[in-house]
Amino acid sequence: MTYARIPESVIAAVLRSHDIVETVGKYVHLTKHGKYMKGLCPFHSEKTPSFTVTPEKQIFHCYGCGKGGDVIRFVAEIEGYSFPEAVKTMAEQAGIPVSWSAPSAGPSPVDSARDKLREAHELAAKFYHYLLLNTAQGREAMAYLRSRGIGEKLIDRFVIGYAPKGWDTLAKFLESRKFDLGLMEKGGLLAAKQDGSGFVDRFRGRIMFPIWSRDGKVIAFGGRILGDGQPKYLNSPETPLFAKSRLLYNFHQARPAIRKSGTVVLFEGYMDVIKAWSAGVANGVATMGTALTPEHAAALRPHADEAIICYDGDAAGQNAVLKTVPLLERAGLRVSVAMLPGGLDPDEFIDKYGPEAFVRETLEHPVSVTKFKLIYLRKTIYS
Ligand SMILES: [Zn+2]
Repeated sequence: MTYARIPESVIAAVLRSHDIVETVGKYVHLTKHGKYMKGLCPFHSEKTPSFTVTPEKQIFHCYGCGKGGDVIRFVAEIEGYSFPEAVKTMAEQAGIPVSWSAPSAGPSPVDSARDKLREAHELAAKFYHYLLLNTAQGREAMAYLRSRGIGEKLIDRFVIGYAPKGWDTLAKFLESRKFDLGLMEKGGLLAAKQDGSGFVDRFRGRIMFPIWSRDGKVIAFGGRILGDGQPKYLNSPETPLFAKSRLLYNFHQARPAIRKSGTVVLFEGYMDVIKAWSAGVANGVATMGTALTPEHAAALRPHADEAIICYDGDAAGQNAVLKTVPLLERAGLRVSVAMLPGGLDPDEFIDKYGPEAFVRETLEHPVSVTKFKLIYLRKTIYS
């Protein structure tokens, strides 16, 4: 995909139609300090604000991490868009015609690599999904998913797939589509052979869960091993597309339900999100193999007033709850905790007692943070 050069007049119109204070204000709580507005930076983790917006100049700048620019840069950065994608989205929002067709100056190399990676991820997701549903290789994976209560509806909804055991199933597929395999390695789909003679698939013998950006594009994968083997869960590495500290699994699908209810349910893993979805929980999201960060919390705040934390019932999960609460509260969310009995995680609870019981007995009756802390304290003292 190549971009036509975007006319300056379109960029100017987009800048005019999006006030930076209003746009940034959807993500960051800003307070006025003379000529500046100040807030906690959404791009790095901090406790005292070093993120500033200057309305007069319509720019933002962070003295902590150095990020800065105009409102288009801000949207590109926070939504994970390339510059042209941000212009296009913002132009559409403002009703500015986007059919620019000036002679192409070609995309910048960075934007072009990102586009290639996005395209490869979309294709890989469809490829894995096809292999799961339609080939003999996918049969064992299908049987496993069914045994875990994940039927075809969920498989389709979450575009679950299967990466076969062979060394180069995806590598060959991408090669046949003329992708640069070196770039695919940087994007986390392939791994370089140790002797430097080529590339192999990063994910093999795994059930594949696409991970989407906020605007619903596949940008990474989580893979669960089929059968025994290590590691049990393997995620894409950090890549130009995939920033774990900012991304929440299922956010693009959950956003409408989060907005409608004003509530987000936070899980620890994608299996929990998927199983909860089968219980009618459409506002669930999960972090991807990391603890919740201030960036995650900031991303939720424009959409929700309330967060219900639903982490594993074991000691590690409960410790994680304690660490997560202040981050969400600092972002301005009301927080409560859904308790799971017997050290179960949400996925296991649903397997054992069913989806209805999960909603009825845990999510509908979350406890306050104060009560959670008392229960936690009692457990840690007396056990
Ligand atoms: Zn910063």
